Amino acid sequence: MWDASKCDLCGECLVRCPYVEYDKEKAAANIQALMDEKDAEILHRCVTCCACREYCPTGADPFDLILRAMEEKKTFPVPPDMAKIFDLAATVPASVSIGDSDKPALSLCIMEGNLPPGAVDGEMFKGMTIVKGGDYFCYVGYVHLGQESPVEKHARQFIDNLAGLGKDIVFLHDDCYAMVDAKIKDYGITAPFRYMHLYEYMRNYLRDHQSRITPLGKKVAYQRPCASRYTPAKDAFLDEIFQLIGVERVNRRYDRGEALCCTGAFIRVYPDLAREIQAKNIDDAVASGADALVTLCPMCDRVLRKPAAAKGLTKIYVTDLCRMALGELP
Ligand code: SF4
Ligand code: SF4
Repeated sequence: MWDASKCDLCGECLVRCPYVEYDKEKAAANIQALMDEKDAEILHRCVTCCACREYCPTGADPFDLILRAMEEKKTFPVPPDMAKIFDLAATVPASVSIGDSDKPALSLCIMEGNLPPGAVDGEMFKGMTIVKGGDYFCYVGYVHLGQESPVEKHARQFIDNLAGLGKDIVFLHDDCYAMVDAKIKDYGITAPFRYMHLYEYMRNYLRDHQSRITPLGKKVAYQRPCASRYTPAKDAFLDEIFQLIGVERVNRRYDRGEALCCTGAFIRVYPDLAREIQAKNIDDAVASGADALVTLCPMCDRVLRKPAAAKGLTKIYVTDLCRMALGELP
C-alpha cells in the first residue's frame, strides 16, 4: 500500500519503468502530482506491469499510488467488454478433489484451462488435494484492468474460502500467491493457514528426490510474471530448482528485475505496443542462446506460445521441465 512517508521523490520507480523514458525530474514530478491528487502523464502511459513496486528502494509502493489514481480517474483505456471480465470467475464452479491427509492442497483457482495439458500430473503432485474454481480465485487480475477496489472487495472471502479447506496450501498461480503473501496485509487481513509457492514446493520435492533426477543440460530463458513484483524473494527457489535439474537460467536483459510483461495485461488496450514488447522479449531470449522459454504464469504461457514458436523458440511450462528431469516426460 502506498506510504507517502517513505517517498523521498528519488524518481527511481519511473526512471526504471520499462514503458516510459523519464529522467529523474520528470519521474519525481509525476509522483509529486499524484501525491497532490492531480492528474499525471504516467496515469495515461502505465501498462500495469507492477514493476515500479519492486523498483522503489524505500518500499513506498508507487504502483499502489498509480493504480488507485488510475481507477479513480478512469485513465486506463480498458475496452468496455473487459472492464468486469474477472467477475465471470464467480460462475466457475468450485471443485475440491480430496487427496492424502498428510499432503497439502494445490490451488489452481480458475487457471487450469490455461495450463498445458498434464501440467500437474506426475509423482510431484500425486496425492495432493486439488482445489479449483471461482471460490478460490484472488481477483488480482483486476490490477491489469487499472482497478484496485475489486481486489480488496473479494480479499476476505478468498481467504475465508481457503481457510475452510483446513489444509496447507500450495499456490500455482502467482497472482494468488501475491494476494496471500503481500496484498492482504494492505487490507489488514492475515492468512490463518500455512501456505507456500509452487516453487518452494517443487524445490522441496526435487531436493528430496535427487536420485530420480537426470540433469537436463539445457539453457533456458525465464518469463517472470508481473505478480512476482509482489513476491521477488521466491526467485531464489527457482534458481535452486534450475540448479537441481541441471538447467542454466540464461543471463538475459529482460529477466529478474528487468523482466517485461508477457503483454497479456495490455494486449487489447495497447496492441501495437504489445507486439513491440513481445518481439523485444522473445528476440532477447533467442539472442541469449536459450534452448527454450520457461513460463510459470498460465497467462504468460498462453500469450507467448505463438510469438515464441514464430521465432523457433520452444516454450516449456515449468512443471513440465521438472518432470523431464524426473524422467516422466521426454
Ligand atoms: S506499473 Fe509498470 S508500466 Fe506502470 S508505471 Fe509502474 S513500471 Fe511503469
Ligand atoms: S515511490 Fe519510491 S522510487 Fe518512486 S520516487 Fe518515491 S521513493 Fe523514489
